[in-house]
Amino acid sequence: MNTLRAVIQDAQARGDAVGHFNVSDLVLLKAVLAAARELDVPVVVGLSEGEREFVGTRTIGALVRSLREEFDFPIFLNADHTHSLAKGIEAAKAGFDAIVFDLSALPFAENVRQTKQAVEALKSINPSMMVEGEIGDIGTGSEIHDAAPDLAKGLSSPEEAKQFVESTGVDILAPAVGNMHGMLRSMVKGETKKRLDIERIAGIKRATGAFLTLHGGSGTDDDDLRRAIAAGINIVHINTELRVAWRHGLEQGLAKMPDEVVPYKILPPAVEAVKQVVLSRLRLFNGKRRAA
Ligand SMILES: [Zn+2]
Repeated sequence: MNTLRAVIQDAQARGDAVGHFNVSDLVLLKAVLAAARELDVPVVVGLSEGEREFVGTRTIGALVRSLREEFDFPIFLNADHTHSLAKGIEAAKAGFDAIVFDLSALPFAENVRQTKQAVEALKSINPSMMVEGEIGDIGTGSEIHDAAPDLAKGLSSPEEAKQFVESTGVDILAPAVGNMHGMLRSMVKGETKKRLDIERIAGIKRATGAFLTLHGGSGTDDDDLRRAIAAGINIVHINTELRVAWRHGLEQGLAKMPDEVVPYKILPPAVEAVKQVVLSRLRLFNGKRRAA
């Protein structure tokens, strides 16, 4: 089985990106795996601290490891948005392949200092664990927002990206390049799309040479995503689109069977709704592999 690093390297060489999808229950996990297996492309599932709190850090570690072995399939596990070293160590010990150590809310120098410490501490537990650091401001939760936050001042520059990568030793960088966590109501309805700063992505790639993650990919213009991948994005995170599909699918299942109480009869429409979103995003991220 390839490591996550080899999978990202391979996708980069081809001009593709690796899809990262957040999961917080078995419906989402089943849907992500089913879509990735159907297309035969590697996939990363991620859980933020809140999502891990609900599912259980060791539980998801055991589940993903078991699925990887059972299906001999490249499914990887990421500890998304981890804000303390203690939570990071918990994930490293549970066998996570990667971690997003996110201190982007702190002043830059403090972010650098603590991220560097985390890289050293986490790699002493698992040398092959990939550590991602984050700079700039891309908003907060993967939820539906009424108004767009002003993120213009929090955009990352190639200079600070280079300085951050060089001084911390992170394997992956998450910059702020016009992306944002969550979706506006108009994006859920499909009336508006997020747009990305492609020039900024290309500049950051040139300056750092690092693997780059695009967070908050939900609701982004398809063509901007393709151009962002061509400019150097290696991993794209999708969460809110899955949450919206999960809710709609669940509502559909409940409405279809108003008197049913058996979860495995009610939940399949939710699995199917999420799977369709994952399929469409994975097709886009793996355009080169699928064309070959
Ligand atoms: Zn994120």
